[in-house]
Amino acid sequence: MSSFFYYVIMKLMIDMRKKKKKLRLKSSVKLFLVLVVFLFIGCNIAKVTYDDYLYKKSSDYAILQLGYSVDDLKLIDSKLNDEQKWHIAKDIGNNEFIMNFIKCDYFIAKNLDAYLKQTVTKEEDFWHYKKPDYYKYDELVAKVNTKTDNEYYTETVETNMDLGSAILVNKYYYLPEEYEPDDLVDIEWKYRFGNKNDHIKVRQETYEHFLDMWNAANEAGYYLMAYSGYRSTEHQKRIYNEYLNKNGVSYADSIAARPGHSEHSTGLALDIYSKTCSQASLFKDTKAYQWLLNNSYKYGFILRYPEGKSKLTGYNFESWHYRYVGVELAEKVYNSGLTYDEYYAFYLEK
Ligand SMILES: [Zn+2]
Repeated sequence: MSSFFYYVIMKLMIDMRKKKKKLRLKSSVKLFLVLVVFLFIGCNIAKVTYDDYLYKKSSDYAILQLGYSVDDLKLIDSKLNDEQKWHIAKDIGNNEFIMNFIKCDYFIAKNLDAYLKQTVTKEEDFWHYKKPDYYKYDELVAKVNTKTDNEYYTETVETNMDLGSAILVNKYYYLPEEYEPDDLVDIEWKYRFGNKNDHIKVRQETYEHFLDMWNAANEAGYYLMAYSGYRSTEHQKRIYNEYLNKNGVSYADSIAARPGHSEHSTGLALDIYSKTCSQASLFKDTKAYQWLLNNSYKYGFILRYPEGKSKLTGYNFESWHYRYVGVELAEKVYNSGLTYDEYYAFYLEK
Protein backbone atom coordinates (compact mmCIF):
# COMPACT_ATOMS: atom_id res chain seq x y z
CA MET A 1 0.00 0.00 0.00
CA SER A 2 2.73 2.46 1.04
CA SER A 3 4.79 1.65 -2.04
CA PHE A 4 1.74 2.51 -4.11
CA PHE A 5 1.55 5.96 -2.49
CA TYR A 6 5.28 6.40 -3.00
CA TYR A 7 4.81 5.66 -6.65
CA VAL A 8 1.94 8.17 -6.92
CA ILE A 9 3.95 10.92 -5.17
CA MET A 10 7.01 10.35 -7.34
CA LYS A 11 4.86 10.44 -10.43
CA LEU A 12 3.28 13.72 -9.32
CA MET A 13 6.66 15.31 -8.64
CA ILE A 14 7.90 14.36 -12.09
CA ASP A 15 4.72 15.74 -13.61
CA MET A 16 5.11 18.93 -11.57
CA ARG A 17 8.66 19.39 -12.78
CA LYS A 18 7.41 19.04 -16.30
CA LYS A 19 4.68 21.56 -15.74
CA LYS A 20 6.81 23.85 -13.58
CA LYS A 21 5.81 26.99 -15.30
CA LYS A 22 2.14 26.25 -15.05
CA LEU A 23 2.44 25.55 -11.38
CA ARG A 24 4.14 28.75 -10.37
CA LEU A 25 2.00 29.84 -7.47
CA LYS A 26 0.83 33.28 -6.66
CA SER A 27 2.66 34.84 -3.67
CA SER A 28 -0.55 35.20 -1.60
CA VAL A 29 -1.20 31.48 -1.90
CA LYS A 30 2.42 30.80 -0.90
CA LEU A 31 2.01 32.94 2.19
CA PHE A 32 -1.16 31.11 3.07
CA LEU A 33 0.55 27.73 2.81
CA VAL A 34 3.43 28.91 4.99
CA LEU A 35 0.94 30.12 7.58
CA VAL A 36 -0.85 26.77 7.56
CA VAL A 37 2.43 24.96 8.16
CA PHE A 38 3.37 27.29 11.02
CA LEU A 39 -0.08 26.93 12.55
CA PHE A 40 0.23 23.16 12.40
CA ILE A 41 3.63 23.19 14.11
CA GLY A 42 2.41 25.73 16.68
CA CYS A 43 -0.64 23.64 17.57
CA ASN A 44 1.53 20.59 18.09
CA ILE A 45 3.94 22.45 20.35
CA ALA A 46 0.99 23.82 22.34
CA LYS A 47 -0.51 20.35 22.67
CA VAL A 48 2.75 18.81 23.87
CA THR A 49 3.21 21.66 26.36
CA TYR A 50 -0.36 21.33 27.62
CA ASP A 51 -0.05 17.53 27.96
CA ASP A 52 3.14 18.04 29.90
CA TYR A 53 1.38 20.60 32.11
CA LEU A 54 -1.45 18.13 32.78
CA TYR A 55 0.97 15.28 33.45
CA LYS A 56 2.86 17.37 35.98
CA LYS A 57 -0.42 17.97 37.78
CA SER A 58 -1.29 14.22 37.88
CA SER A 59 -1.00 11.81 40.77
CA ASP A 60 1.29 9.64 38.63
CA TYR A 61 3.84 12.46 38.37
CA ALA A 62 3.54 13.30 42.06
CA ILE A 63 4.14 9.66 43.01
CA LEU A 64 7.20 9.36 40.76
CA GLN A 65 8.57 12.60 42.22
CA LEU A 66 8.45 10.97 45.66
CA GLY A 67 10.93 8.36 44.50
CA TYR A 68 8.67 5.46 43.55
CA SER A 69 9.81 3.54 40.48
CA VAL A 70 7.90 3.22 37.23
CA ASP A 71 7.18 -0.43 38.09
CA ASP A 72 5.88 0.64 41.50
CA LEU A 73 3.62 3.13 39.80
CA LYS A 74 2.28 0.45 37.43
CA LEU A 75 1.34 -1.72 40.40
CA ILE A 76 -0.14 1.22 42.32
CA ASP A 77 -2.14 2.12 39.24
CA SER A 78 -3.56 -1.39 38.94
CA LYS A 79 -4.87 -1.47 42.52
CA LEU A 80 -5.71 2.08 43.58
CA ASN A 81 -8.04 4.71 42.14
CA ASP A 82 -6.96 8.29 41.56
CA GLU A 83 -8.20 9.54 44.93
CA GLN A 84 -6.27 6.79 46.70
CA LYS A 85 -3.19 7.58 44.62
CA TRP A 86 -3.39 11.21 45.72
CA HIS A 87 -3.59 9.96 49.28
CA ILE A 88 -0.17 8.37 48.76
CA ALA A 89 1.18 11.43 46.98
CA LYS A 90 -0.06 13.99 49.50
CA ASP A 91 -0.49 12.26 52.85
CA ILE A 92 1.65 9.13 52.99
CA GLY A 93 4.62 10.18 50.88
CA ASN A 94 7.62 7.96 50.43
CA ASN A 95 7.09 4.90 52.61
CA GLU A 96 9.44 1.93 52.54
CA PHE A 97 6.73 -0.60 53.53
CA ILE A 98 3.93 0.40 51.22
CA MET A 99 4.83 -1.58 48.09
CA ASN A 100 5.12 -4.78 50.11
CA PHE A 101 1.46 -4.40 51.04
CA ILE A 102 0.30 -3.43 47.58
CA LYS A 103 2.01 -6.54 46.18
CA CYS A 104 -0.10 -8.85 48.40
CA ASP A 105 -2.81 -10.88 46.64
CA TYR A 106 -5.52 -9.77 49.05
CA PHE A 107 -4.54 -6.11 49.31
CA ILE A 108 -7.63 -3.90 49.69
CA ALA A 109 -6.95 -0.27 48.84
CA LYS A 110 -9.28 1.21 51.45
CA ASN A 111 -7.30 -0.59 54.17
CA LEU A 112 -3.98 0.95 53.19
CA ASP A 113 -3.66 3.20 56.24
CA ALA A 114 -4.54 0.34 58.58
CA TYR A 115 -1.91 -1.88 56.91
CA LEU A 116 0.75 0.79 57.35
CA LYS A 117 -0.24 1.17 61.00
CA GLN A 118 1.04 -2.38 61.49
CA THR A 119 4.56 -1.18 60.75
CA VAL A 120 6.74 1.32 62.54
CA THR A 121 8.79 3.89 60.68
CA LYS A 122 12.05 5.28 62.00
CA GLU A 123 10.55 8.74 62.37
CA GLU A 124 7.63 7.40 64.38
CA ASP A 125 9.50 5.26 66.83
CA PHE A 126 13.23 4.80 66.49
CA TRP A 127 13.43 2.10 69.18
CA HIS A 128 10.75 -0.09 67.69
CA TYR A 129 11.70 0.39 64.07
CA LYS A 130 12.02 -2.87 62.11
CA LYS A 131 13.45 -3.24 58.61
CA PRO A 132 10.96 -4.02 55.83
CA ASP A 133 11.94 -7.71 55.62
CA TYR A 134 10.95 -8.18 59.26
CA TYR A 135 7.22 -8.10 58.52
CA LYS A 136 5.03 -10.84 57.07
CA TYR A 137 2.92 -8.70 54.82
CA ASP A 138 0.36 -11.33 53.75
CA GLU A 139 -0.39 -12.03 57.40
CA LEU A 140 -0.78 -8.35 58.20
CA VAL A 141 -3.10 -7.90 55.22
CA ALA A 142 -5.24 -10.83 56.41
CA LYS A 143 -5.27 -9.41 59.93
CA VAL A 144 -6.48 -6.00 58.83
CA ASN A 145 -8.94 -7.39 56.27
CA THR A 146 -10.61 -9.49 58.97
CA LYS A 147 -10.59 -6.49 61.35
CA THR A 148 -8.67 -8.56 63.90
CA ASP A 149 -6.19 -5.69 64.20
CA ASN A 150 -8.93 -4.30 66.48
CA GLU A 151 -9.90 -5.71 69.87
CA TYR A 152 -12.78 -8.16 69.69
CA TYR A 153 -16.18 -6.48 69.73
CA THR A 154 -14.77 -3.06 68.86
CA GLU A 155 -15.38 -1.30 65.53
CA THR A 156 -18.52 -3.43 65.21
CA VAL A 157 -20.95 -3.02 62.33
CA GLU A 158 -24.39 -4.39 61.55
CA THR A 159 -23.96 -7.04 58.89
CA ASN A 160 -25.37 -6.57 55.40
CA MET A 161 -28.51 -8.70 55.39
CA ASP A 162 -28.97 -8.20 51.62
CA LEU A 163 -26.32 -10.88 51.15
CA GLY A 164 -28.79 -13.58 52.25
CA SER A 165 -27.06 -16.84 53.04
CA ALA A 166 -23.67 -15.14 52.45
CA ILE A 167 -23.97 -12.80 55.47
CA LEU A 168 -20.98 -12.51 57.75
CA VAL A 169 -21.47 -12.81 61.49
CA ASN A 170 -18.45 -12.73 63.77
CA LYS A 171 -16.95 -10.65 66.56
CA TYR A 172 -17.16 -7.49 64.43
CA TYR A 173 -20.29 -8.06 62.36
CA TYR A 174 -23.58 -8.52 64.16
CA LEU A 175 -27.14 -9.35 63.20
CA PRO A 176 -29.81 -6.66 63.34
CA GLU A 177 -31.44 -6.54 66.77
CA GLU A 178 -34.51 -8.76 67.03
CA TYR A 179 -33.51 -10.63 63.87
CA GLU A 180 -35.35 -13.89 63.60
CA PRO A 181 -35.45 -16.04 60.46
CA ASP A 182 -39.01 -16.66 59.26
CA ASP A 183 -38.38 -20.05 57.67
CA LEU A 184 -37.02 -22.14 60.53
CA VAL A 185 -37.77 -25.85 60.36
CA ASP A 186 -37.27 -28.72 62.78
CA ILE A 187 -34.55 -31.24 62.12
CA GLU A 188 -36.06 -34.71 62.19
CA TRP A 189 -35.09 -36.83 65.19
CA LYS A 190 -33.33 -39.32 62.92
CA TYR A 191 -30.72 -36.70 62.05
CA ARG A 192 -30.08 -35.15 65.43
CA PHE A 193 -29.11 -35.76 69.04
CA GLY A 194 -31.49 -35.19 71.96
CA ASN A 195 -34.87 -36.49 72.93
CA LYS A 196 -37.69 -36.99 70.50
CA ASN A 197 -39.52 -33.93 71.84
CA ASP A 198 -36.52 -31.59 71.63
CA HIS A 199 -36.15 -29.13 68.82
CA ILE A 200 -33.12 -28.32 66.75
CA LYS A 201 -34.04 -25.84 64.05
CA VAL A 202 -32.33 -24.33 61.02
CA ARG A 203 -33.54 -22.36 58.05
CA GLN A 204 -35.37 -24.30 55.33
CA GLU A 205 -32.65 -24.10 52.67
CA THR A 206 -29.95 -25.03 55.17
CA TYR A 207 -31.96 -28.08 56.20
CA GLU A 208 -32.54 -29.24 52.62
CA HIS A 209 -28.82 -29.08 51.92
CA PHE A 210 -28.01 -30.74 55.21
CA LEU A 211 -30.22 -33.66 54.15
CA ASP A 212 -28.40 -33.92 50.81
CA MET A 213 -25.12 -33.95 52.70
CA TRP A 214 -26.45 -36.44 55.20
CA ASN A 215 -27.39 -38.86 52.41
CA ALA A 216 -24.03 -38.53 50.69
CA ALA A 217 -22.20 -39.07 53.98
CA ASN A 218 -24.42 -42.03 54.72
CA GLU A 219 -23.54 -43.61 51.39
CA ALA A 220 -19.88 -43.11 52.25
CA GLY A 221 -20.48 -44.92 55.53
CA TYR A 222 -20.91 -42.06 58.01
CA TYR A 223 -23.96 -41.32 60.12
CA LEU A 224 -24.02 -37.57 60.71
CA MET A 225 -25.95 -36.07 63.60
CA ALA A 226 -26.87 -32.44 64.21
CA TYR A 227 -26.01 -31.33 67.71
CA SER A 228 -27.02 -27.68 67.68
CA GLY A 229 -28.68 -25.32 65.21
CA TYR A 230 -30.55 -22.06 65.52
CA ARG A 231 -30.25 -20.09 68.74
CA SER A 232 -32.26 -16.90 69.12
CA THR A 233 -30.37 -13.76 70.09
CA GLU A 234 -32.44 -13.82 73.29
CA HIS A 235 -31.22 -17.35 74.04
CA GLN A 236 -27.63 -16.30 73.26
CA LYS A 237 -28.02 -13.37 75.65
CA ARG A 238 -29.03 -15.73 78.48
CA ILE A 239 -26.06 -18.02 77.81
CA TYR A 240 -23.60 -15.15 77.57
CA ASN A 241 -24.90 -13.33 80.65
CA GLU A 242 -24.69 -16.48 82.70
CA TYR A 243 -20.94 -16.75 82.01
CA LEU A 244 -20.55 -13.01 82.38
CA ASN A 245 -22.12 -12.91 85.83
CA LYS A 246 -20.16 -15.92 86.95
CA ASN A 247 -16.62 -15.05 85.80
CA GLY A 248 -16.49 -11.71 84.03
CA VAL A 249 -16.15 -10.44 80.48
CA SER A 250 -12.97 -12.11 79.27
CA TYR A 251 -14.17 -15.50 80.50
CA ALA A 252 -17.60 -15.05 78.92
CA ASP A 253 -16.04 -13.91 75.64
CA SER A 254 -13.78 -16.94 75.53
CA ILE A 255 -16.71 -19.35 75.90
CA ALA A 256 -19.69 -17.78 74.14
CA ALA A 257 -20.39 -15.25 71.44
CA ARG A 258 -21.99 -12.00 72.48
CA PRO A 259 -25.68 -11.68 71.62
CA GLY A 260 -26.13 -10.82 67.92
CA HIS A 261 -22.63 -12.04 67.14
CA SER A 262 -23.33 -15.77 67.12
CA GLU A 263 -23.55 -17.61 63.81
CA HIS A 264 -26.10 -19.87 65.41
CA SER A 265 -28.52 -16.94 65.46
CA THR A 266 -28.46 -16.82 61.65
CA GLY A 267 -30.21 -20.20 61.32
CA LEU A 268 -27.47 -21.06 58.81
CA ALA A 269 -25.04 -22.78 61.18
CA LEU A 270 -25.01 -26.33 62.45
CA ASP A 271 -22.87 -28.20 64.90
CA ILE A 272 -22.46 -31.62 63.36
CA TYR A 273 -20.98 -34.79 64.83
CA SER A 274 -21.36 -38.44 63.92
CA LYS A 275 -23.55 -40.96 65.67
CA THR A 276 -20.46 -42.67 67.05
CA CYS A 277 -18.61 -39.55 68.20
CA SER A 278 -20.11 -36.41 69.65
CA GLN A 279 -17.17 -35.27 71.72
CA ALA A 280 -15.71 -31.93 70.80
CA SER A 281 -12.14 -32.92 71.61
CA LEU A 282 -12.29 -36.22 69.70
CA PHE A 283 -14.36 -35.45 66.61
CA LYS A 284 -11.39 -33.94 64.73
CA ASP A 285 -9.73 -37.38 64.70
CA THR A 286 -12.67 -39.20 63.14
CA LYS A 287 -13.11 -40.22 59.53
CA ALA A 288 -16.52 -38.55 59.56
CA TYR A 289 -14.76 -35.23 60.16
CA GLN A 290 -12.34 -35.92 57.32
CA TRP A 291 -15.31 -36.61 55.08
CA LEU A 292 -16.99 -33.34 56.12
CA LEU A 293 -13.76 -31.40 55.66
CA ASN A 294 -13.39 -32.63 52.08
CA ASN A 295 -17.02 -32.82 50.99
CA SER A 296 -19.24 -30.41 52.91
CA TYR A 297 -18.67 -27.61 50.39
CA LYS A 298 -20.39 -29.68 47.72
CA TYR A 299 -23.59 -29.24 49.72
CA GLY A 300 -23.07 -25.56 50.51
CA PHE A 301 -21.38 -25.88 53.90
CA ILE A 302 -17.99 -24.55 54.98
CA LEU A 303 -15.92 -25.43 58.00
CA ARG A 304 -16.21 -22.06 59.64
CA TYR A 305 -13.41 -22.16 62.25
CA PRO A 306 -10.56 -24.14 60.68
CA GLU A 307 -7.45 -25.36 62.43
CA GLY A 308 -4.65 -22.81 62.80
CA LYS A 309 -6.82 -19.83 61.87
CA SER A 310 -8.14 -18.72 65.24
CA LYS A 311 -6.33 -15.38 64.98
CA LEU A 312 -8.43 -14.56 61.92
CA THR A 313 -11.76 -16.12 62.85
CA GLY A 314 -11.66 -15.19 66.52
CA TYR A 315 -12.55 -18.78 67.42
CA ASN A 316 -10.52 -21.83 68.28
CA PHE A 317 -10.64 -24.68 65.79
CA GLU A 318 -14.12 -26.24 65.81
CA SER A 319 -14.23 -29.45 63.79
CA TRP A 320 -18.01 -29.63 64.32
CA HIS A 321 -19.22 -26.14 63.35
CA TYR A 322 -20.45 -25.82 59.75
CA ARG A 323 -21.97 -22.82 58.10
CA TYR A 324 -24.31 -22.90 55.12
CA VAL A 325 -23.41 -20.27 52.51
CA GLY A 326 -24.88 -21.86 49.36
CA VAL A 327 -23.27 -24.40 47.05
CA GLU A 328 -21.68 -22.00 44.58
CA LEU A 329 -20.09 -19.81 47.24
CA ALA A 330 -19.03 -22.73 49.43
CA GLU A 331 -17.05 -24.17 46.52
CA LYS A 332 -15.32 -20.83 45.91
CA VAL A 333 -14.46 -20.42 49.58
CA TYR A 334 -13.20 -24.01 49.75
CA ASN A 335 -11.00 -23.54 46.69
CA SER A 336 -9.64 -20.21 47.90
CA GLY A 337 -8.23 -21.79 51.05
CA LEU A 338 -9.29 -18.65 52.92
CA THR A 339 -11.32 -18.36 56.09
CA TYR A 340 -14.79 -17.01 55.44
CA ASP A 341 -13.80 -13.78 57.21
CA GLU A 342 -10.95 -13.21 54.72
CA TYR A 343 -13.01 -14.28 51.73
CA TYR A 344 -15.85 -11.97 52.70
CA ALA A 345 -13.55 -8.97 53.09
CA PHE A 346 -11.86 -9.43 49.74
CA TYR A 347 -14.58 -10.79 47.48
CA LEU A 348 -17.93 -9.82 48.96
CA GLU A 349 -17.44 -6.56 50.81
CA LYS A 350 -14.70 -4.85 48.80
ZN1 LIG B 1 -21.41 -24.01 66.56
